[in-house]
Amino acid sequence: MKIGTKITLKFNFIVSVILISFAASVYFSFSSYREEEFYSRLKEEATTTAKLYSDVEEVTYDVLKKIDKISENILTDEKVLIYDLDNKLLYSNQEIDVDEISHAKLDELKTEKEIRYKEGDIEFFGTLFTGKFNKFLVISCAMDEYGLSKLQFLKYTLIIGVIIALIISTFLSFFFSRQSLSPISDVIKQVDIITISNLNHRVNEGNGKDEIAQLAIKFNKMLERLEAAFEMQRSFVSNASHELRTPLTAITGQIEVAIMGDNVNKEAQYLLNSILDDIKELNKLSNGLLDLAHANLDISEVKLSFIRIDEIIGAIQAEIVKRNKDYTIEIDFMDYPDEENWITINASDQLIKAALANVIENACKYSARHVANISLEFDNKNVTIIIQDSGIGIPEENMAHIFEPFYRADNVKLIKGHGIGLTLTQRIIHLHNGTINIQSSIGKGTIVKLQLPHL
Ligand code: ADP
Repeated sequence: MKIGTKITLKFNFIVSVILISFAASVYFSFSSYREEEFYSRLKEEATTTAKLYSDVEEVTYDVLKKIDKISENILTDEKVLIYDLDNKLLYSNQEIDVDEISHAKLDELKTEKEIRYKEGDIEFFGTLFTGKFNKFLVISCAMDEYGLSKLQFLKYTLIIGVIIALIISTFLSFFFSRQSLSPISDVIKQVDIITISNLNHRVNEGNGKDEIAQLAIKFNKMLERLEAAFEMQRSFVSNASHELRTPLTAITGQIEVAIMGDNVNKEAQYLLNSILDDIKELNKLSNGLLDLAHANLDISEVKLSFIRIDEIIGAIQAEIVKRNKDYTIEIDFMDYPDEENWITINASDQLIKAALANVIENACKYSARHVANISLEFDNKNVTIIIQDSGIGIPEENMAHIFEPFYRADNVKLIKGHGIGLTLTQRIIHLHNGTINIQSSIGKGTIVKLQLPHL
């Protein structure tokens, strides 16, 4: 999950917990305030009626009923009932008979002296009243219509308020998290562009003060160290292979002279020829490593020129066939583009030659008849060079590793090679902003597609 989404979710969770607890506490404190207020009204009603009933002699039962009825602040469904200590109903303010209070409640009132309880929306208050001459059980009950409707209104207001606040907070937290994380997204985009061939790129260090700028500064410092280490390794490979060239050339020359000498017997000649083959392989390896070191340069450090693909393939074909008499390279340039630009690339002549020669030589080397087929495809951006063979193919389990330096598939152990050709080809193609794609099936052959941007 993205950090921005995480921040939004966490922030919203916290805001909703705060809002919901605030709304709940407002609701419950208002609810208990209403209840307290209503019970105190019921208590007032109960005690006033009880006082009139027991203490004022002039007030008769009927008069009391009338007083109760015309009382100004009469409550909804209000009832006042007076019982004696034997649970006998002495007075009710209702015209008709009312549901009597259960004996259990009356008994509870006798022991507790004051009780409160609810039945549905009706709230009951009971008190043990001590009059001038007697004790009574007085129960008043009613429905708090206004209080309950206010409570209901408050409930809906709070629910709608919380929902609106949550929607607003979701939008705001999403907006702010995106805004505060946008410098990180910028750094990610810039880091994405940095590859092995442009390690000299640096990410924007912003204001140089905040945490993201610090991260960018540290990242740039790490890039500097990486670049230095990489350059050291590259120049080591380049120098070592360069230094090896002179003695290898000298040895080759000396052996060639020795072979031609008269006083060399057949056995020694055979041995010298085999040494010469090995020296040539060593030479190839050292040249390959030198090319690899060059391919690791930044494209800005490489000398570029306009190269016609058909011409360079023709030159490579001639060179390979000259070196390996049994190799056949068939070139099929049927679909020539109308535009000359489409067949021209801006590239390093030496590197592109090395890349193409590797793939073409592999196609011949790894097929029994030593035949490679080359064709071209074009679109308005790229030229694709397709090198095809009907050779041994690459085992599926080795496919993932064939671009690794010095890696060779399991089925080629008896064929000479060093495993740096494809590494080199891939680096060169990527250096020129191209792509390399290999499809192979064991025993059937291999198709290598090199796509390069044309002019
Ligand atoms: P090598 O010097 O071994 O040819 P490469 O780097 O050119 O080194 O190739 C790496 C490996 O990929 C080879 O060892 C071989 O196993 C496999 N490979 C490359 N091209 C082909 C091909 N055309 N047919 C079969 N296998 C191939």
